[in-house]
Amino acid sequence: MTKLTFLGTGGGRFATIYQVRSTGGIYLQDHVRLHIDPGPSALANMCHLALDPAQTDGVIISHCHPDHYADAEMIIEGMCRGGFKRTGIVVGSTSVLKGENGFTPAVSSYHQAIAREVIQVSNGEVIDVAGMRIDVTPTRHGDPAGVGFRFHTTNGIISYVSDTGLHDELIQAHRGSRVLIINLTRPLGSRVPMHMSTEDAATLVSEVHPEAAILTHFGMKIIHDGVEKQADFIEDASGVRVIPAEDLMTVQIENYIHTLLEKVNVR
Ligand SMILES: [Zn+2]
Repeated sequence: MTKLTFLGTGGGRFATIYQVRSTGGIYLQDHVRLHIDPGPSALANMCHLALDPAQTDGVIISHCHPDHYADAEMIIEGMCRGGFKRTGIVVGSTSVLKGENGFTPAVSSYHQAIAREVIQVSNGEVIDVAGMRIDVTPTRHGDPAGVGFRFHTTNGIISYVSDTGLHDELIQAHRGSRVLIINLTRPLGSRVPMHMSTEDAATLVSEVHPEAAILTHFGMKIIHDGVEKQADFIEDASGVRVIPAEDLMTVQIENYIHTLLEKVNVR
């Protein structure tokens, strides 16, 4: 079975600053365990769900905005047993690992040195992380070096578009995906450049036509306007099942796609 656990479904400046929703990224479990975009609250939410950072095989960071990387160094320390075992893989855009376009590196040279391997990625590359093929996909966003990913799991391809506006190359890059995870940042009637609006997400989902689309990374305006409303619009427009993710939700992917939301006592 392949599992996606949403350690946070918020994103953007103010939903992150005020933790209106958590912003801990996505934990992917297949034959490997990968932590994608561990923003603030990643570590705390792993703790709530009893997920051990020492079991993580790879930390993957799509771009150099803090709602995607703020907890990365602590997750890397966990993966490397406090820095005492050189293990695990860190994957990031050039902006995240090297610093670029006004961004300084989001992961220190110390934390890059304690991992067994560090892979700097750009659009179009194909990498192997602990035996899983990952395709690196394009984005158009405030960090020009940002990327998205396609994970070739044992239950089909899972796409993570990351933060991006809609463009043709994005649609082409994600064709053939079984599950399409979309960082939805702008609700109906409020499209802005370099961000994914509900209308554009409907086009993306219609064109890619996955088995299911999962919406996450909601900003204040979407949370205020209603997440379900955006999901209904995209589902009606595309005919594809749309799942609006919730904090600590798990999506299980095998022959069928199930969602689970366990009640957890949050300290
Ligand atoms: Zn961003």
